Amino acid sequence: ILSARDLRHSFGPTDALRGIDLDVQAGEVLAVMGPSGSGKSTLLHCLAGVLTPGSGTVTYSPTNQPMRNISGLSEQDRSRLRLTDFGFVFQFGQLLPELTALDNVSIPLLLAGTKRSEALRRSAELLERLDLASMSERLPGELSGGQAQRVAVARALVTAPSVLFADEPTGSLDSLASENVLTLMLELVREAGTTVVMITHDPRSAAYADREVIVRDGAISAGYRLPV
Ligand code: ATP
Ligand code: MG
Repeated sequence: ILSARDLRHSFGPTDALRGIDLDVQAGEVLAVMGPSGSGKSTLLHCLAGVLTPGSGTVTYSPTNQPMRNISGLSEQDRSRLRLTDFGFVFQFGQLLPELTALDNVSIPLLLAGTKRSEALRRSAELLERLDLASMSERLPGELSGGQAQRVAVARALVTAPSVLFADEPTGSLDSLASENVLTLMLELVREAGTTVVMITHDPRSAAYADREVIVRDGAISAGYRLPV
């Protein structure tokens, strides 16, 4: 569904990506591992059209739709694509503190033009799937770390994206909360056939993936298909 070819990117004198080739299959859950500073987040940003690589291409070929060269789209087209086709979960601070859990989850739907009543209905349904029905009127500051991350997962999945990009989605949680967030997230994505690109430092989180690639010094140094 995503193909990167010879991706290269520098930040000033720092070569963050030094020629990455990567194919992500539709419906697979891919874990991206590797040391701090190796280029994982930069790679994810290029795949998701958040960052235009210095050189190389990223193509996106969703099922039953024409292939698109993400790196060649205008900023406006890329931001529309991110809204309609991709979901994002990060490690910290992604919920708007002044909005309730329910309102946070509904944001992407409202941005995409969904009617408010419909957006709230779908958001509530997803919060329930993530065991958060009783938390929907709370503000992010009134949630535990694990609950807040589950709200972030709900918000990322509410538009039924083709690809979920997650950058250390459980990096701020202890192992029990982390396992709980991952289990629920993976249950939803497996059910929907969502493709997942997930950066993680934790081998136990990576064990939820179908495949693992390791990034070192801006290049892919190894890839493994994980046993089911
Ligand atoms: P971590 O595991 O710590 O999140 P990472 O593998 O995600 O690390 P990247 O964030 O992709 O690493 O960074 C790759 C390299 O590019 C690092 O040397 C980093 O310092 C540099 N870098 C990343 N973003 C920027 C930026 N906006 N400006 C300058 N340098 C940057
Ligand atoms: Mg990173």
